[in-house]
Amino acid sequence: MVANVLWRLKQATHTLKSAARPYSRTCSICDHSGLFGPFGFPVRPEAQCPQCQSLERHRQLALWIARDGNGDRLSGKHILHFAPEKAVERLLRPRSETYVTADLVPGAAEIVLDIENIDLADGSIEVIVCSHVLEHVDDAKALRELRRILCRDGLAILMVPMVHHWETSFERPAPTVEERIKYFGQFDHIRRYGRDFVQRVKDAGFAVEAFSPTPEECIEYGLGLGSVTYFARPETV
Ligand SMILES: [Zn+2]
Repeated sequence: MVANVLWRLKQATHTLKSAARPYSRTCSICDHSGLFGPFGFPVRPEAQCPQCQSLERHRQLALWIARDGNGDRLSGKHILHFAPEKAVERLLRPRSETYVTADLVPGAAEIVLDIENIDLADGSIEVIVCSHVLEHVDDAKALRELRRILCRDGLAILMVPMVHHWETSFERPAPTVEERIKYFGQFDHIRRYGRDFVQRVKDAGFAVEAFSPTPEECIEYGLGLGSVTYFARPETV
């Protein structure tokens, strides 16, 4: 018992030390420069900007927007953001013609939508933001629905937790809450994605592009090493 407590104290000390590395990062969303804070479980040191609360994936999206006129392509669009994240909203709302946030949980966003059965018309949305949502749901259903509501030249911005060394996503049939935490890292996650995520998106009728920042950008902006942001456009037949 005492040994167990000591071991846990040692682990907590190690976590705090690793989370307090004195390297300055820059936020690609709010321009804050300084120490970033830990976030997540297991904790990711230097994950969160203390000024705008952005995480690695949000700052990565900001870099893509700043590149090659991508931001201009989002300007004046009708944007739908599932499970909205404040840092992303801060990036995109000012550029949009309309910006609507949606969530399955009443009160968590402007409108209630079930991503597996979206109560919106075919082809009615120009840009969809779907960040860290698909690992919670029947992704085949959700991706088909995203494809259905997206207009012909629309864009879906997709981010998922992924293990890039894995060829195939890891899932278990009907996982219990304990299994979800153990295997997928969160009580409401039902899979960890591998590289077959891209094929899953293609199977729903999308063409897929990927964006990875440079190693220098990963260090400068405190991004996930090897993290990829996916951009899906309706496949033309
Ligand atoms: Zn920031």
